[in-house]
Amino acid sequence: MSSPSRLRYPQDLIKRGMGALSPNLQRIRSQVQNGAISKEEGIEQGNRILEEHYEKQVVIINKFVEKKGLIGITGRETVLKEALEEAKAAWKEIIIEASEAWKLKQVAIGVISFTALTLVEQKKIVEPRKLEALKKIVEQKKREKELETLIEEALKKTQKSIPQRVDSLTQVFNHRIVNNSLKVIAPTNNAKWMKWILHPERSKTGPCPICTANAAGGRNGYYRVTWFTPMMPVHPHCVCEWEIWFGEPDLGIDEVERSILLLNAHQARYRPLIR
Ligand SMILES: [Zn+2]
Repeated sequence: MSSPSRLRYPQDLIKRGMGALSPNLQRIRSQVQNGAISKEEGIEQGNRILEEHYEKQVVIINKFVEKKGLIGITGRETVLKEALEEAKAAWKEIIIEASEAWKLKQVAIGVISFTALTLVEQKKIVEPRKLEALKKIVEQKKREKELETLIEEALKKTQKSIPQRVDSLTQVFNHRIVNNSLKVIAPTNNAKWMKWILHPERSKTGPCPICTANAAGGRNGYYRVTWFTPMMPVHPHCVCEWEIWFGEPDLGIDEVERSILLLNAHQARYRPLIR
């Protein structure tokens, strides 16, 4: 089979490859947040899911690449392993936060039930002091309500941000695996260049300044496989992708090359007649 002249990883494979990664991690996250499992169990179970996803993705990527007559990845390459380590570190932070939210809830429940207990006891107060006690109860109830509202608000904030972070973790992780794989696949298959592809049509807000700069960086968006290349994705929901170029792309004349040519022409024109 002849090799292609350029290669992009299909978007539908990326989407399908995501599988149930996010729902599975969300399930563990909410179990920690509800106190059903411990922080340690949450970290361990999540790490296992991340590793399984990683292995599965490596197989899917290889199946695609080998169909094109190219050499795939082993999954043990440093850039790829880094993506896994990065995801595990992000996951650990999320679980710690989920566990803190659970602790906060426990403390809150403790405080509220303690207040309720005090109220019950106060009702036993003897007749002459009844009015005073009632006043106290009203005051206490007001404070209890305030506390409840504060706790509710704090929890809502945490619970809202944690699931979002799980989502962005899964997206970034999956994109890193794919794009870091391409970074390995390109040189192993003797490709010369990689091109940063922007997809303005795929986002409502348009590409971010960093992505735009990267798409114009290197040599007009083309990066030699031996060069330092920016990390992809740049941010969650980044839709940029690498395109592998096996041949020499038509780059036009490079600015540096052009200035050397101009300088040569200039020197040629004004070459001293007598040396
Ligand atoms: Zn981007």
